[in-house]
Amino acid sequence: MTAAEARALFVRLDHAFAAEQERLGRLDAAVGDGDHGAGMARGFAAAAAATAEQDAAAPGEMFTRAGRALMSAVGGASGPLFATLFLEIGAALAAGDSETDATGPIAAGLDRAAERIMRLGRAAPGDKTLLEALLPAAAAFRGGASAGLPGALAAAAIAAERGARDSAALPAQRGRARYIEGAGVGHPDPGAVSIALIFSSWSELAGNEGQA
Ligand code: ADP
Ligand code: MG
Repeated sequence: MTAAEARALFVRLDHAFAAEQERLGRLDAAVGDGDHGAGMARGFAAAAAATAEQDAAAPGEMFTRAGRALMSAVGGASGPLFATLFLEIGAALAAGDSETDATGPIAAGLDRAAERIMRLGRAAPGDKTLLEALLPAAAAFRGGASAGLPGALAAAAIAAERGARDSAALPAQRGRARYIEGAGVGHPDPGAVSIALIFSSWSELAGNEGQA
């Protein structure tokens, strides 16, 4: 992976979250306060701006810049959690030989991100959070890693999509949804839907067909 490829991901995510802002807002209005779409759109606009500079940065540095931008621009409960995802991928890319093959470092970054998010949010699988999409995506990415980055991303995108959809059946144990009547059963977790959007966008950028 090159810095230009990393930069292209954040341009793509900026467009994807701008396009899906309303839908994510509606999903969050059903189980929370309705601000999730706006927060994510703001965050990825900031991430795209933070990675726009045409300097000689390494790809890991691009993910780190994006993570920092998300941290300060998203806010809410989810800002630090989505920031962690990109900060951990950035750290793993910086530590590994990412120019040759980014797949191994990204797999390690996804696992570390999921672990840290569980600690930060005191959340477990089944609590109806973004982890419903991130944990299966990280596992599928690792499982598909031998097929290279596009194959790993395709597997992760499918798993994240399914995890986000299946989160609808769960009662929330974390986040605002746990306070509403029915604890959000029947509605997907908006954060999990955002994780699915991240992987589907990244997978399409890597040359895979969209799922839709
Ligand atoms: P807020 O809840 O502050 O309004 P957002 O609406 O941006 O923040 O994000 C809500 C999403 O954040 C949820 O759908 C869920 O995926 C995620 N989330 C909230 N709390 C937690 C937590 N403790 N652990 C993991 N994820 C969480
Ligand atoms: Mg919200």
